[in-house]
Amino acid sequence: MSCSEKYIAFMHDYLDEDITEKKEQELREHLQTCAACKQHFDELKKTIAFVQSTSHVKAPVDFTANVIANLPKEKRKVEISR
Ligand SMILES: [Zn+2]
Repeated sequence: MSCSEKYIAFMHDYLDEDITEKKEQELREHLQTCAACKQHFDELKKTIAFVQSTSHVKAPVDFTANVIANLPKEKRKVEISR
């Protein structure tokens, strides 16, 4: 992948809805000419769509436990105390 991290950063800004019109324009133009970035962007969007589609669905009972188990110890305490 030869692209600068600049466009990757733009993509994250875009998906966070925290991008200026000027940057968005530049990103769109770049995506039309760069297959690597286009693919990266598509995958980011897919991931976001997946997260959004599951966020209002009840997670499996052991989901949170699994997440907590994967957290570093100091964070684990905070998460458990709810
Ligand atoms: Zn690119």
